[in-house]
Amino acid sequence: MRTPIVAGNWKMNLSQADALTLGRAIAEGAPTRGVTAIVAPVALHISALGEALASSPVLLASQNAHWAESGAYTGELAAPMLRELGVRYAILGHSERRQYFGEDDEGVNRKTRSLLAQSLHPIVCFGESLDEREAGRTRDKVEFQVRAALAGLSADEARRVILAYEPIWAIGTGKTASPEQAQEVHAFLREVLEDRFDRETAQAMPILYGGSVKPSNFAELLSQPDIDGGLVGGASLKAESFLELCQIA
Ligand code: PGA
Repeated sequence: MRTPIVAGNWKMNLSQADALTLGRAIAEGAPTRGVTAIVAPVALHISALGEALASSPVLLASQNAHWAESGAYTGELAAPMLRELGVRYAILGHSERRQYFGEDDEGVNRKTRSLLAQSLHPIVCFGESLDEREAGRTRDKVEFQVRAALAGLSADEARRVILAYEPIWAIGTGKTASPEQAQEVHAFLREVLEDRFDRETAQAMPILYGGSVKPSNFAELLSQPDIDGGLVGGASLKAESFLELCQIA
């Protein structure tokens, strides 16, 4: 029903030469069916990667995109420019962008709405901190973030959005949420989506898990009924482990 997704977030890593080597290896080995494989290189390398991945099943994402189509926004990336280079997805609201670059729920919503209007699929990230989890506020936090990100969207628009639950305490720490912990949040989100839109939309929207995903824990995470794939940082920087994740999916 929902095709599994493996999305590699390369963050601010790799020289262009190394990014091309990795991209080519992934392009050669990626399965042509049964999984949607996505990579998000740094913006500088998107053009070169677009050429390297052109005849492969691997799709390109940007790690960010601005809401405006063009204009006086120094340092930003516009959706039409990304699309011109073959980009199909844009990661929004990643916890690193929220922490270091002032991305907030309102901005994520504004970007989500305008990217949809400009034919990019947003990959919307959200998740609780360790303090919030320990205080029993996980559900409140993720519900708030997801409702805020999707504010003003129709059900049809929402179906073009990918959600990514990324508990902040699990990102880059080697600590993964247990499959049960992740499933609990994903199932809860499915209820939130049903309440916000309708049952069909809630069932159609992919919800990825992110936070120290690797080949050794991915199968168990994916076997959970509401986990539809992974947003992967560290383990996406090696062709071998990224391709293994695609095989598992
Ligand atoms: P990680 O990063 O897999 O290295 O924990 C995930 C992410 O930040 O998307």
